Amino acid sequence: MTNPTLPHIIDVAVPLPLDATFSYAVPPELVPLVTTGVRVLVPFGKRKLTAYVLGTGEQRGEEVRQVIAVLDPEPLFTAQELEFFRWAAGYYLHPLGEVIKSALPAGINIMSRKQNRREPNGGTVAEEVLTGGRRVKTEMFYRPVMPQPTGVLREKPARIMTFLGAQGEASASRLRHECDADAAILKRLRERGYVSAIEREVYRDPFRAEVFRHDTPPALNDSQASAIDRLTAALKGDAFAPFLLHGVTGSGKTEVYLRAIAEVIDRGRTALVLVPEIALTPQLVRRFKSRFDCGIAVLHSGLSDGERFDEWRRIRRGEVSIVIGARSAIFAPLTRIGIIVVDEEHDGSYKQSEGFRYNARDLALVRGKQAGACVILGSATPLVTSFHAAHSGRLGYLQLPRRVRDLPMPEVRLLDVRGKKNETFLPEMAAAIDLNFACGGQSLLFLNRRGFATYLVCNDSGHVLRCPNCSITLTYHQRRGRHVCHYCDYAIPAPSVCPECGSVEITLLGCGTERVEEEVRTLFPAARVGRMDRDTTSGKGAHARVLRGVEEGTVDILVGTQMIAKGHDFPGVTLVGVVSADATLNLPDFRAAERTFQLISQVIGRAGRGDAPGTVLIQTMNPDHYAVSRAAAHDFAGFYGEELEFRREAGYPPFTHLAALVLSGNGAEAVDQAASVASSLLLRLKKELKSRVEVLGPVVAPLAKIRGRYRRQILLKSAGRTDLHRLLAAFRGSAVIPATVRIAIDVDPVDML
Ligand code: ADP
Ligand code: ZN
Repeated sequence: MTNPTLPHIIDVAVPLPLDATFSYAVPPELVPLVTTGVRVLVPFGKRKLTAYVLGTGEQRGEEVRQVIAVLDPEPLFTAQELEFFRWAAGYYLHPLGEVIKSALPAGINIMSRKQNRREPNGGTVAEEVLTGGRRVKTEMFYRPVMPQPTGVLREKPARIMTFLGAQGEASASRLRHECDADAAILKRLRERGYVSAIEREVYRDPFRAEVFRHDTPPALNDSQASAIDRLTAALKGDAFAPFLLHGVTGSGKTEVYLRAIAEVIDRGRTALVLVPEIALTPQLVRRFKSRFDCGIAVLHSGLSDGERFDEWRRIRRGEVSIVIGARSAIFAPLTRIGIIVVDEEHDGSYKQSEGFRYNARDLALVRGKQAGACVILGSATPLVTSFHAAHSGRLGYLQLPRRVRDLPMPEVRLLDVRGKKNETFLPEMAAAIDLNFACGGQSLLFLNRRGFATYLVCNDSGHVLRCPNCSITLTYHQRRGRHVCHYCDYAIPAPSVCPECGSVEITLLGCGTERVEEEVRTLFPAARVGRMDRDTTSGKGAHARVLRGVEEGTVDILVGTQMIAKGHDFPGVTLVGVVSADATLNLPDFRAAERTFQLISQVIGRAGRGDAPGTVLIQTMNPDHYAVSRAAAHDFAGFYGEELEFRREAGYPPFTHLAALVLSGNGAEAVDQAASVASSLLLRLKKELKSRVEVLGPVVAPLAKIRGRYRRQILLKSAGRTDLHRLLAAFRGSAVIPATVRIAIDVDPVDML
């Protein structure tokens, strides 16, 4: 500051559920350290808080309190990223400070606490100490000082010195690995002056050990080539250009991404690739690593906090040109973005369903626009809304209508299970699995329900085991011998009699993947059987191990949930069996049909990707439902036509915009009361604003209770987005809801259960 009489004022956001931003004065000695994107410690009420500096502010009112400390030597976000955070905070009606906090890697957050320090004169002073910030990992690196004194040394030290002589320098862990050097030996060598040591920062690299072979890109087919032509033309413009890449399963979409990204890197820009969490497999990362020499960072929930923090810093420092990640990678601190790919754009996991309820697929378009980048939304089963946007020209449409190398789509047969409820496999299905196994093909068996049995019922009293905290039944897990709630993990040991009436006449009903696996083992004792669901893949690397088993042919039959449906390329799979296609169809949600169609199409797409053709059998109670029959016929256009008609009649997207208010609390009455207060307020504001938004509800949510919290919903439907946001903003500014009830605003809800 040039004028010392004017205080230097900054605007900050705090990571609290508050809409406002706040102003603070910066003491002169800190002024050179404060810029947009650093964190500062500020007094806040009686507390001290970490706050994010947004920029220069204005003095509001008389009193401005002073910044206590500056916490970062370098900004954590840029002005352009801040603009993106602001957009997201505004659109999803979520506090800016919390948006910024969730955009930064976990573990970076610093907390402060008081600590007493003893003064030289004997007194004590309270001092602010900062803790909890993720540590940078360092390692000792050793260099030889004296040339080749090996003659006088014993065998192991001599080996270490020879190794160092050849390498020039090596880290402690490398020396341990290569020469079996422990800390004591290194210390001795150092004390004797044979080696010097220096401490250096290192990255925790989740892929350190792997070596990647260079691949030879295949020659593109005509549709791939024309997609690339259009993308290349768009990239030359260096301006926002959004595309829908609609390619059937196995049509070579990933190859199109790789080529477009190569183009972007050649132009000196960077690429952000989003994939659904469970499709982010080593197989995919390997494909990128063997194609590109540039730095690649990977962000997903399987990383430790330390690994994620290091990947984040490599990106922030401009050391990588490609970031591959799940949902939250949309906030990766990548600069000069030239392309954003959203693979499997229809996938529900792009939506964060708690807290800051953003949708990474939608934000990709926003970030792409701000960065002047190309955005590719890729899928075999695009969202109805995406296809509609492509139809009306808001997205460029790129199509890959056929599989690569002209491989045929698999042959699909529907098996009607009505009236045959107690069999896991109809005879046709069992025979097909048997035949495929006998012929040496691999089979995938899909069921979107984990566990052994979905509920336990008493034949005498009719009692059903339910979760006391959630309004759902408990699922029996045989290996654990327990009945488990899939929402809150509440679990009880399996009872031998009905807990209600003591009868021994209790039956396990409904079938999950664990039971399917057991039946497969019984029916096909010679087959090597694997299972992939959340129960079998919770350990680190377990997911990758199962996938590798299928890839390398050590698994004959793989049973799994939707985890096996996503994006994998298994050339050996010649049979796919859908044990039941009906679970998602019966959900009380307007996307039930769309989700069922997507899931069945994706599962079908796993068959016949190699040289042998594939067969698919689908057991269903709803063979005539358009979601099932159109998926079986590989008929996206037909499904789209019927689904769009349903959406038009019922008033759902793309014909309306939705927002859901979810009220929850531990007391049913308080939640009901708050819900009716909220809806009256909405109706009053609607009148005042002359808004045309429809206010529906409150209703009891389909999942009426989760983790002990009762849930009520109000649905807002609007033809226009502006109208909807005006009403929501007014509501947020004036709603008075008791502290015992939580209210969440979900803009563009993806499921409404
Ligand atoms: P998708 O992402 O559409 O499911 P992929 O990009 O994974 O399809 O392609 C499926 C397989 O076909 C991969 O093994 C890929 O290497 C291969 N492939 C892609 N394009 C071609 C091509 N033009 N010619 C031959 N093989 C190809
Ligand atoms: Zn529960």
